[in-house]
Amino acid sequence: MATTLPSPPKVGMVSLGCPKALVDSERILTKLRSDGYQLSPDYDQADVVLVNTCGFLDSAKEESLAAIGEAIAENGRVIVTGCMGKEAELIRARFPQVLAITGAAQYEDVVGAVHEAAPMPANAFLNLVPESGLKLTPRHYSYLKISEGCNHRCSFCIIPSIRGDLVSRRPDAILREAEKLVAAGTKELLVISQDTSAYGVDLRHAEWTWKGEPVRAHMTDLARELGKLGAWVRLHYVYPYPHVDRVIPLMAEGLILPYLDIPFQHAAPSVLKAMKRPANEAKVLERIHNWRAICPDIAIRSTFVVGFPGETEADFQYLLDWLDEAQLDRVGAFRFEPVQGAAANDLPDPLPEEVKEERYARIMEKTAAISAAKLAAKVGLTLDVIIDVADGEGGATGRSYADAPEIDGEVHLRDAPRARQGDIMSVLIEDADEHDLFGVPA
Ligand code: SF4
Repeated sequence: MATTLPSPPKVGMVSLGCPKALVDSERILTKLRSDGYQLSPDYDQADVVLVNTCGFLDSAKEESLAAIGEAIAENGRVIVTGCMGKEAELIRARFPQVLAITGAAQYEDVVGAVHEAAPMPANAFLNLVPESGLKLTPRHYSYLKISEGCNHRCSFCIIPSIRGDLVSRRPDAILREAEKLVAAGTKELLVISQDTSAYGVDLRHAEWTWKGEPVRAHMTDLARELGKLGAWVRLHYVYPYPHVDRVIPLMAEGLILPYLDIPFQHAAPSVLKAMKRPANEAKVLERIHNWRAICPDIAIRSTFVVGFPGETEADFQYLLDWLDEAQLDRVGAFRFEPVQGAAANDLPDPLPEEVKEERYARIMEKTAAISAAKLAAKVGLTLDVIIDVADGEGGATGRSYADAPEIDGEVHLRDAPRARQGDIMSVLIEDADEHDLFGVPA
């Protein structure tokens, strides 16, 4: 006679914030799933709802609070985790009914809170978790977090006070996770951290054994080994320390994508000093030229903050001139926004909002013109494109090596009925605008 097993509790998840927070959500869900919990796609069926918050900017905090409010209104049984966990009092003041609040990267605490809020029946049937864990990104690309925390103290940032100093993962553990992801269908690995170039500093770049060979906890070793797994490997959050020069030949060899995401944030020396930015040195432009000499196709993406306290018109003009020289492929710009608890809030000479707006408009105009010219130069080339979305009727959207998901541009395909999500296709580029490319299968 068949025994009816009690059904396991269902957990809903609202994940806000950056890719690092998304990876935290995936880890939490993977653990809960392996503990036997089911996942609920909506509020109605969930026994408890987890809200993974972002507390980086004040606007992100508001968004997090709104998400907590919505989960309480729709379900009522809510656990809060993530970066805003640091501000438990603020959350409790607004939402006293929240069941538990835990901070970023406190996996055991949040999983324990779920067990308490929605206990597992004694003999609930445990489903197996896929080898690669549970993912919130589409199957064909995966974020790979290599470290937590940061040893720097940039004056506008509160991440070190939320996440602590740098703690790197062992290289063999990262490589094992990457290998499983590739075996499960991942075609693109996106390496993330707060400071990828600093990977392994806390481990003194010690050696581990991977497939019988020594591999150091170092960005170069890790990039080389990841490159052997057969997926695209894209490096994010790289600071231009001298040793970054050693990954450029790996790009020229085709082992990893010729793509570097370097958050420069500014170029004027006085502003960089006030920001307390790492790897702030005068020769960055020369280095970029050298990288292009070794790997002419390298795509460099960056973000910049305009309107930082004390930024003069001359500083801003310096930045625009620097951008003319650097010819970066992809640029995101932000107006400076004070973050509660950040040292930069106490700096003298904050700028009026209208000055920030005006500078923001000018940097956007400059970078759009550079991007348009760079993309126009790709018309007529044949590029490999990874397909993100395909309608099965000829239309598809993907990305070239120069485009990370969500943050960069796209390649729009026509006459591609055979394109499927995750395919890497050869595409003839026919047209370009300021952000995107347009093409047909070659
Ligand atoms: S490098 Fe600076 S901006 Fe980035 S996480 Fe560390 S302190 Fe924050």
